[in-house]
Amino acid sequence: MSARRHQSDEVPKVIKLKIIMDKTRDRVIFAESDHEFIDTLFSFLTLPLGTILRLLDKDMVQLGSISRVYASVYSIDPKFMHTSHCKSMLLMPRNTSETHCGKLKLNVDHSENAGKLFCCSNYQCRKLVSFLQNMRCCGCGNLMVRSTRLFEEEEKGSCGEESAVEVFLKGGAASFMITDDFQVMPASTASYVELFEKLEVSHRNEIEAVTMEVGIKEVLQLLKFSLLSTTPLTNMVLSSKENWVRDTSKFKDGPTAKSDKKGIPQNINSMSMKLIVSKSKKKVLYAEAGVELVDLLFSFLAFPLGAVVKLLGCNSKLDCIDNLYKGADDLSSRNYFKSEECKNRLLSPKLYPHFGYNSHILQLEEETPKCRLDRENLALPLLQQSDKAARNVAVILDPKSPTGETVNGEGYLRGPATFMIMDNLLVSPFSPTSSIALLKQLKVPTSDVEERNVIVGKDEALNLLKASLISKTVLNDVFNRREPSPEIMLKV
Ligand SMILES: [Zn+2]
Repeated sequence: MSARRHQSDEVPKVIKLKIIMDKTRDRVIFAESDHEFIDTLFSFLTLPLGTILRLLDKDMVQLGSISRVYASVYSIDPKFMHTSHCKSMLLMPRNTSETHCGKLKLNVDHSENAGKLFCCSNYQCRKLVSFLQNMRCCGCGNLMVRSTRLFEEEEKGSCGEESAVEVFLKGGAASFMITDDFQVMPASTASYVELFEKLEVSHRNEIEAVTMEVGIKEVLQLLKFSLLSTTPLTNMVLSSKENWVRDTSKFKDGPTAKSDKKGIPQNINSMSMKLIVSKSKKKVLYAEAGVELVDLLFSFLAFPLGAVVKLLGCNSKLDCIDNLYKGADDLSSRNYFKSEECKNRLLSPKLYPHFGYNSHILQLEEETPKCRLDRENLALPLLQQSDKAARNVAVILDPKSPTGETVNGEGYLRGPATFMIMDNLLVSPFSPTSSIALLKQLKVPTSDVEERNVIVGKDEALNLLKASLISKTVLNDVFNRREPSPEIMLKV
């Protein structure tokens, strides 16, 4: 008996998916599922870009140029960072919804440290916590090694049954349809009739319903395909390796060209960058920039995917992700979501505490570092019994701060320093030797080289973010003037 139970525990978790295939054209028309599968898809929106790149592993190079940013963080000398923790923050960013995602039947980012915080071994400092192990406590100097958990709010109206775990959506019998390009909608006759019309599916097509068991491997595939293809469900079903990679050269939007006009008012939050241009080729070869700009590029890794879509006005050009976001937005929070707060976790995901910094040009909202400690910690001698409201509120140390501050200050990088940014966003410390070698490699004589100053304000920052996801030639796409007349890439 116990042996059998043990065996069943080891059965990998799967979600059954009914899939309507168009056999004639070998493609998925839509899939039908319940809230568990939709919760898993929606959880993609909470994942920071750095997490996604880590999960994509070898396939990440296909995702625009952001993979080069990730590689740059990986290989940068820690001496350029404020603390030794900065690199791991960016390479393994935390997810504000990680405790929620931990409850998913299929959680793509299962991490051991999810929801964990570390406290000082000294009870006097018990309110100070860090989300990275072995940080030094600014109160007493001990290492923060004692693991604790965020106190989870009691779910309102929770039935307490383990069988129906609700994460973002309400449990229950609601059935959903997911199109091949990740449009999500409540299942209805009208929806599929409309879809059949749109896809020109008629009686001539051979329709087949198949049932598929989706496990964590398939969900990882779906994450990858949803970023790199426009038909992730078909890709998953056919598991075909051909013809699914998105053509990343299709960077249709006109680039933004902010020229180096002297008259541009210097926005407080804007920063500048020197573009090194080949006059004859009319091409940006690379850029020279200080810590502010590189901090901006690096900080993209901490951005949750849903926040990126929101910043880019649902026009990130990652079509399936844009669709997924719109699907979550269109579902009524009263009927389908557990709460308005759950919907907001997907549509306006915040940065994990301390992943932002004061001068950040995009000012993405950060989760308030007001987590409550778990019962184990509450059982410790309460030093401030009188202050009931504040007694179990933890204060999180900023891992970016060399002095263990608890309020945000500067970014990840320590200035002053000059960096070289390649067209594909590979960042390295500037060195004249490597610059000369590069020009030689590109066969550009120094007489052909021109330096151009560009101002990077909010629009340019958004364009850099957008281009980093879909283009391999980001600097040229965002800053190089093109014929006929330059268009604004984003209308924000
Ligand atoms: Zn301490």
